[in-house]
Amino acid sequence: MADCLFCKIAAGEIPSNKLYEDEAILAFHDIDPQAPVHFLVIPKRHVESAAALNENDGPLLGHIYAKIAELCREQGVDKTGYRVVTNIGVHGGQSVPHLHFHVLGGRSMKWPPG
Ligand code: 5GP
Ligand code: ZN
Repeated sequence: MADCLFCKIAAGEIPSNKLYEDEAILAFHDIDPQAPVHFLVIPKRHVESAAALNENDGPLLGHIYAKIAELCREQGVDKTGYRVVTNIGVHGGQSVPHLHFHVLGGRSMKWPPG
């Protein structure tokens, strides 16, 4: 989608610090990390948020979560644990309207989130 920051990152038009890429998804480090490990996983296809997903997206979501687990093993946070978050809309705290999963680890997370 034109003028979408994460579509431009997915297309390589804006550089990112990549951890993983294939034809469907991209994982890259967050530019403003909130934990020792903080990366984002996005579908390359423009999806506005998790609210726009449907039953047909099951394989995409399985692929994303399997890759998150693999990347967290690589990042060394699989044993201590981590948090996966996707913000939706204004009250959810979503600032980039392209579906992304935050993966945070390397420190203890608080609950409830702010
Ligand atoms: P949201 O607030 O939508 O849940 O998360 C957006 C995330 O994208 C934020 O954590 C923010 O730091 C990150 N972000 C925004 N712009 C860029 C960018 O240009 N590059 C990277 N790597 N991350 C970005
Ligand atoms: Zn997009």
